[in-house]
Amino acid sequence: MTFHKGGVVSPGKTIRVGEGFTVLPFRKESTEELVHRIADKLAPQIRRTFLQAIEALKEQVPVNQITELLEAGNLTAVLEALQGTADLTPIRQAIQDAVEQVAAPTAIGFGLTFDAVNERAIRWAREHSGRLITQVSNETQTAVADIISRSLREGTEPRRQARLIREIVGLTRRDAGAVDRFLQGAVDSGMLRTRAEQQAERMARRLLSRRATNIARSETIRAANMGSQLAWEAAQDAGLLPPQTFKVWIATEDSRTCPICAVLDGNVVRLGDSFNIEEEATSFDIDGSTITVAGTRPLRRPTTELQPPAHPACRCSTGIVTQPT
Ligand SMILES: [Zn+2]
Repeated sequence: MTFHKGGVVSPGKTIRVGEGFTVLPFRKESTEELVHRIADKLAPQIRRTFLQAIEALKEQVPVNQITELLEAGNLTAVLEALQGTADLTPIRQAIQDAVEQVAAPTAIGFGLTFDAVNERAIRWAREHSGRLITQVSNETQTAVADIISRSLREGTEPRRQARLIREIVGLTRRDAGAVDRFLQGAVDSGMLRTRAEQQAERMARRLLSRRATNIARSETIRAANMGSQLAWEAAQDAGLLPPQTFKVWIATEDSRTCPICAVLDGNVVRLGDSFNIEEEATSFDIDGSTITVAGTRPLRRPTTELQPPAHPACRCSTGIVTQPT
């Protein structure tokens, strides 16, 4: 058995897994509770460090510098300047803390030492925070390229472009596009340019704040769940978990509102494998306290993940199950 489809969501701590599987309890606090506790504790820290890093990056690239580069027609240099060398160590540290604070008690629950998982936690946090930072930076670059190409078509003054570019640092391409369109629309409808720019700036700030919250939620859930994954892998390597160890996707109680995880709930894969995230529920059958997924449709962009989250604001976790011998 590698995959169990059409999961049944059970609110509370009960989960249904394939016949013959047992969920192994190792601590008083369940994995799910630990993952949520650590994620909630560290989310504000990740949010803060993300916003500080973006602020620092903005400070490194003053409007004058962007204006000069745009005037010189050196667009590559604009993008390079925004690639930034801001100190992102605090983000990596916060992610590492989240991994470790789940990995350590889980490893210790198996009789392992903290050292047995520490190196894995550090390595994962370094690689993952690197990927996250690259992703944020790439998105800023694409958004800036969009603005530059639109400005070229419409002949927007370099200084105005520069101000907008600086404003949208750290936003997703979509949000940056929304700010740009808002500003153009306001000016076109006759609003005073300075007033329109002020409003666009406020909008950008609001969107950045929302993005920081989203990143903090997703990344702490991801890091905390990876903490379980790394500890279980360490336990398996040490012979404390059988080679035939599986993990089960556990949707949170609020999965009534989460059509993707309602389908994933109860799915079982090998410890080292990824879950296939490819369908979302289109309808539920609510019977007492259980929800049965009655219909699904394929996701536009299916992915695979070693651990939750499956989507933004996902609050899922996993548990391990072993086949009885
Ligand atoms: Zn979820």
